Amino acid sequence: MVLPFTMLNPDGVKEIEPLVESRGGIYLPDVWLVDPSELTKSIIEDAQLHGVGIRAGARLFQADTTSEGIVLETEQGHIQAETVINAAGLGSDEVAAMLGFPKYEIFPTRGEYWQITTEKYQSIGTPVNQTASKLSGKGMHLSPRDGTLYIGPDRTLTTERRNVQEQRSDAVIFSEGARRFLPEIGEEDIKWGYAGVRARNTNPESASDFIVGFDSDQVCNIIGIESPGLTAALGIGRYVVREYASVSSEAR
Ligand SMILES: Cc1cc2nc3c(=O)[nH]c(=O)nc-3n(C[C@H](O)[C@H](O)[C@H](O)COP(=O)(O)OP(=O)(O)OC[C@H]3O[C@@H](n4cnc5c(N)ncnc54)[C@H](O)[C@@H]3O)c2cc1C
Repeated sequence: MVLPFTMLNPDGVKEIEPLVESRGGIYLPDVWLVDPSELTKSIIEDAQLHGVGIRAGARLFQADTTSEGIVLETEQGHIQAETVINAAGLGSDEVAAMLGFPKYEIFPTRGEYWQITTEKYQSIGTPVNQTASKLSGKGMHLSPRDGTLYIGPDRTLTTERRNVQEQRSDAVIFSEGARRFLPEIGEEDIKWGYAGVRARNTNPESASDFIVGFDSDQVCNIIGIESPGLTAALGIGRYVVREYASVSSEAR
């Protein structure tokens, strides 16, 4: 599917976002931001309507492959599974190893978003991205959400997969990032917002791609689903369903 788009010169960009400086742009009128928790809730509701049972907080700590299938040992007891789809994000390498596939490694990559606090920039309502590159992916971008304009994320390798909510990066990285679009921004115009960790499957200096596939007819590993993994979630889901159909028909 090709989304409708319009090529813009610098004045065309200014007609949409008068404060944004650029050498031109590609405008995708059908692209918007989604609320991740609302999207997740809605997927859960749809799944439940189709008979899916959900066990939240059931951390997997061991998996044993037997002739009857795979026995999953979780904090909420055993689960006997015919097929396991490992979509454990930052824990997907550990889960893959438990399932007998120790070949994967996650490189947790931390990213901070900073808030642009200056009043005049709060009128910006369009997500503004720089030209994507193989290495930087979508790179640092302007992201207006819930009445706040954010700039970010940066990208640093970390050993910590949890408890990352503190400022570690330098403000100058974000004021420089924002100046690509808003040349008058200084460090006094921004303040720390929040941080997150992406589950990259290569170190931050190398290009990476999602790994999605069945390593056996019982186990599908989904590894390295960093951004834009949320955007791609439904597509990845459809792909896994197709792969499952083909793997299970070969196994019959
Ligand atoms: C700062 C930042 C900005 C981002 N921006 C965007 C964006 O603009 N657009 C976009 O599309 N995406 C974005 N993403 C990426 C997006 O959030 C991820 O791609 C997406 O969440 C990956 O989904 P997932 O289901 O693979 O993993 P997750 O969402 O990480 O879910 C994995 C789940 O598995 C669970 N789990 C882990 N280990 C175990 C275990 N042993 N047993 C049981 N459960 C386990 C975890 O608790 C978690 O609930 C961003 C991410 C970050 C950090």
